[in-house]
Amino acid sequence: MSIEQYLFPESIDECLTLLSRFEGRALLIAGGTDLMPKLAQKKIAPTVLIDVTRIENFCDVVITPSDLMVAAGATHAQVAENETLAQTWPALTKACGSIGSPQIRNIATLTGNIVTAMPGADAAVALVVLNATVEIASPDGKRSAAVEDLYAGVGQSKIDCGREIITAIKVPRPQQKHGNAYGRISPRNSFCFPIVNAAAALTCENGKVISARLALGPVADRPFRPIQAEAVLKGAAPDDLKAIDEAAILASREANPRSSCLRGCADYRRELLKVLVKQVVMDANARLTR
Ligand SMILES: Cc1cc2nc3c(=O)[nH]c(=O)nc-3n(C[C@H](O)[C@H](O)[C@H](O)COP(=O)(O)OP(=O)(O)OC[C@H]3O[C@@H](n4cnc5c(N)ncnc54)[C@H](O)[C@@H]3O)c2cc1C
Repeated sequence: MSIEQYLFPESIDECLTLLSRFEGRALLIAGGTDLMPKLAQKKIAPTVLIDVTRIENFCDVVITPSDLMVAAGATHAQVAENETLAQTWPALTKACGSIGSPQIRNIATLTGNIVTAMPGADAAVALVVLNATVEIASPDGKRSAAVEDLYAGVGQSKIDCGREIITAIKVPRPQQKHGNAYGRISPRNSFCFPIVNAAAALTCENGKVISARLALGPVADRPFRPIQAEAVLKGAAPDDLKAIDEAAILASREANPRSSCLRGCADYRRELLKVLVKQVVMDANARLTR
């Protein structure tokens, strides 16, 4: 099976019409950095590729008083290099800036990073901690869904990209005192998947954490939220080192990293998680808005 047509719709409606016309034989492509290797390895065999990058306004990054809107064709470089965005969502800019290399970041999209559904996908881990949602269009209409609810297993997204299209990612703007941070440990700074990565988001009121979100990867079949660790942080002062240490230990226990010849053994990766979780929570605390 080979690609017979490569199409460039200019609107979301045109894209949906094309998807319907090819009835599952077409796939959406953005940067192609995940899709092309799968095609080359014959893991997928569409006959038509529908390139979303020329859809009008599909690369916009818009910051409003209520949220951040990253259109589905926006690249990691666009987000990583946006200094205004970094003031409120440093976890996201750092995660996007850690992906691959400049060449990869210049073409690869945050949307592709979500749909690829890899548990350690850097931007997706940050988006989960920031409580991001996606806007989805299909022949049935429009809907939105939380990023963390889109996973069906390793490499398995609930998005059917032969039928539906993500149009935008939305990240709510924190309305209270808030700080977020991202970190990863990898053998090299570039062109390297993480051994472990982690993100933290703290929201505070009257000197206490009222909401703590943590996301870790790749330590489960999806970006993983260690709920017990989050619960320990909630109600504590954001700089309470005892609570942070306890949360880091709990997070590393809740996580289920595999032993891997690329990433190291499970025990080693759990030890790294303790250090990394502590670091990202402390970073989030240091970035609390005044
Ligand atoms: C050398 C190299 C290094 C890399 N390093 C990293 C790394 O360090 N960290 C990391 O997380 N990832 C890394 N990646 C993986 C990859 O670059 C990212 O996951 C990237 O964000 C995928 O985006 P893309 O635009 O290239 O997606 P594509 O490959 O174009 O698409 C991926 C999937 O998303 C679907 N899709 C695309 N757009 C839409 C849409 N609008 N609606 C619905 N479905 C859609 C496609 O159909 C496909 O199933 C690396 C890849 C390479 C080749």
